[in-house]
Amino acid sequence: MDKYAIETVNLTKEYHGRIVADGINLHVPKGKIYALLGRNGAGKTTTMKMLLRLIRPTDGSIYLFGENCSRFGKGNYHRIGSVIEAPAFYENLTAKENLEILARLRGMHRRDTIENALFAVHLDKEDKKLFREYSLGMKQRLGLAAAVMHEPELLILDEPMNGLDPIGIHETRAYLLQLCREKGTTIFVSSHVLNEVEQLADVIGVINKGKLLEETNLQELYRQRRRYAEFEVSDVNRAAFVLERRFRISDYAIIGNNILRLYEKIDSRAQINSGLVAEGIFVGKVCVESGKLEEYFTELVGGDTIG
Ligand code: ATP
Repeated sequence: MDKYAIETVNLTKEYHGRIVADGINLHVPKGKIYALLGRNGAGKTTTMKMLLRLIRPTDGSIYLFGENCSRFGKGNYHRIGSVIEAPAFYENLTAKENLEILARLRGMHRRDTIENALFAVHLDKEDKKLFREYSLGMKQRLGLAAAVMHEPELLILDEPMNGLDPIGIHETRAYLLQLCREKGTTIFVSSHVLNEVEQLADVIGVINKGKLLEETNLQELYRQRRRYAEFEVSDVNRAAFVLERRFRISDYAIIGNNILRLYEKIDSRAQINSGLVAEGIFVGKVCVESGKLEEYFTELVGGDTIG
């Protein structure tokens, strides 16, 4: 069991007879980044709150670091850092003052702890701005600093990219990757934006209408999504004929009126291009692509797109 930092069995939450988390079986491997991906209202926050004991599950079990949550004493929660919904801070204090209070509450004595945490999320330790004057993105950054300050083994982050500008998203992603790769921190993050997690996660769990539909290793998924060369041609039927007769290609697909997709001999696309042109077929564009991740998720959630 303890190859997982988080494992749940049949985790269920009902509100007033309505099931919002429906028998969820999560497997979050230690030392990896796991993204829980789903549309608004899919049940991401509810799941995270149950993991953190902020709300009580209606049914099911939770294992943290291989230990049943009911036996996972409160004292163990320092192994976890989290940001769920809007992080709460004192409005009339600066970022540094807020973190100082938290550090005292957590019994942390190292002087550089706060400065390191602020530095990591690109907040200025000398900034005199009060928390109430912070933008949403700055609040998110401070929330992350508070979550990582005590160097937890597991980070649970609910939509950490919310409110960040593109640079902020890039910096946060780089920081989370660094934490995972250099310190071995397990990161369980939620998002409703596919692009955000695509370059971040090792494993993706897709949640829709309270159900965890699939858990997938992203590398494996990329391998499965086949590469192909796409030719935009003036006459697909004649082009297909040339492919078969002249190049002995049979693994291809015709898309619409003028696209040919080749799944074999991709590296010979320059010769194929010349061959088509020599046969009087106009070639508008040639490109190499992999099956789009969006298509996979759209198939999975039945037409409800993500992100
Ligand atoms: P978002 O991306 O919008 O944050 P989410 O995937 O985190 O969405 P949840 O916040 O977990 O979704 O909500 C899942 C469902 O549970 C929603 O339909 C929501 O209205 C419902 N819900 C959440 N909290 C409560 C509550 N305290 N009482 C009743 N229903 C609730």
